[in-house]
Amino acid sequence: QLSGRTPCRSHHCGPGSGQRLLLSRIFQPQNLREDQALSLESRSGELTCKSQRLMLQVGLILPASPGCYHLLPYTVRALEKLVRLIDQEMQAVGGQKVSLPSLSPAELWRATQRWDLMGKELLRLQDRHGKEYCLGPTHEEVVTALVASQKNLSYKQLPFLLYQVTRKFRDEPRPRFGLLRGREFYMKDMYTFDSSPEAARQTYGLVCDAYCSLFSRLGLQVIKAQADVGSIGGTMSHEFQLPVEVGEDQLAVCPSCGFSANVETLDSSQTNCPVCQGPLTETRGIEVGHTFYLGTKYSSIFRAQFTNAEGKPCLAEMGCYGLGVSRILAAAIEVLATEDSVRWPGLLAPYQVCLIPPKKGSKEAAATELTERLYDHIAEAVPQLHGELVLDDRTHLTIGSRLKDADKLGYPFVVVAGKRALEEPACFEVWCQNTGEQLFLTREGVLDLL
Ligand code: ATP
Ligand code: MG
Ligand code: MG
Ligand code: MG
Repeated sequence: QLSGRTPCRSHHCGPGSGQRLLLSRIFQPQNLREDQALSLESRSGELTCKSQRLMLQVGLILPASPGCYHLLPYTVRALEKLVRLIDQEMQAVGGQKVSLPSLSPAELWRATQRWDLMGKELLRLQDRHGKEYCLGPTHEEVVTALVASQKNLSYKQLPFLLYQVTRKFRDEPRPRFGLLRGREFYMKDMYTFDSSPEAARQTYGLVCDAYCSLFSRLGLQVIKAQADVGSIGGTMSHEFQLPVEVGEDQLAVCPSCGFSANVETLDSSQTNCPVCQGPLTETRGIEVGHTFYLGTKYSSIFRAQFTNAEGKPCLAEMGCYGLGVSRILAAAIEVLATEDSVRWPGLLAPYQVCLIPPKKGSKEAAATELTERLYDHIAEAVPQLHGELVLDDRTHLTIGSRLKDADKLGYPFVVVAGKRALEEPACFEVWCQNTGEQLFLTREGVLDLL
């Protein structure tokens, strides 16, 4: 602890007006070698991709059992930032956030036959009375039964766009690639209820646009590809795919008109674009989102209905819309990271700034104090960086080794009190990750930059 006072119980600590977040107090295994990271995965056997290796090495996740991970503090911060962005996008199109139980009664799944159709992927269990459940892998049944329970809905109240961000459970035949394919993972799932097919198609378009807006804010170039409806069913479906080599999906893309489709939907012998007849190219992708126009497939089974303008009962027209929340985090790292260092979409970086005071030694006291003062100044002067600053107080380590750690964790800005911190005027060394620049700035310069 830098301040030399009695340790307080918070990991935000220190004297003066601001409480400082000290790196040494963050719960995070650090700097694992590749073989150490691999040994953590020994139960499931292999390191299968860059994001999995890096996330283990720098202490973002720890394996708990095959396909299940502990998400450590940095990851949870990034995840919460992602959820806030998703909330903004979903609420901008009228989404209302709900939270449905993960324990999902078997009778709902029997009603749609998916109790049998989903096979071994469904994690099943019984309560003390022998009543059967599954742990929700998705929530079409549950949400449709919920809406159906409301007996006096009028067309004037629709559409309803209900979404949640919760853990989903799937007994994947081969969990791998770290957070990319887990057995327990975070998904945003939205279910929409409209009063006509036209209105439902309009909703479908709006939600797809919201997905595009989300990915563009994240700086991720996704491909919106025509997709198979799979076991969820319906009549129209798109996948949002992030092109990258480790992706498990194969896409056919038309460079001339932009058409793209998951090859699962295509006649595999087709080499020309069905829209413009131009030649198709193939690329691999990670499925980060999936949208379905469901029609009345579920509303007809559970009788989710409303009264129309003529006072007649009508079935709701439904859509469902998934985003792989934890998968997006790992997929972004997969695309943006270098071989050695994690890189985040700017809006998701767990902390924006890491400050590194000098190594403990004869002359460091003044520079350490300068760094602490700079921390407090930034915290005060830049409200949007409130809670976004970490002080790397591991002063038994050299600046160089802490700088290397900071680079591995991918902070957008790293501020070092190096040799020039004790010159007049004091200059800090600032590493800007998005531009790759190294700048020497006075305290005011740092504040301006941030
Ligand atoms: P996949 O083809 O990769 O198995 P899916 O088509 O079975 O995915 P959906 O039912 O469409 O998945 O679920 C919505 C979203 O949830 C997916 O687009 C994906 O981003 C995410 N997702 C699905 N399965 C997993 C998993 N095992 N781990 C992490 N995210 C997942
Ligand atoms: Mg699947
Ligand atoms: Mg799929
Ligand atoms: Mg899918």
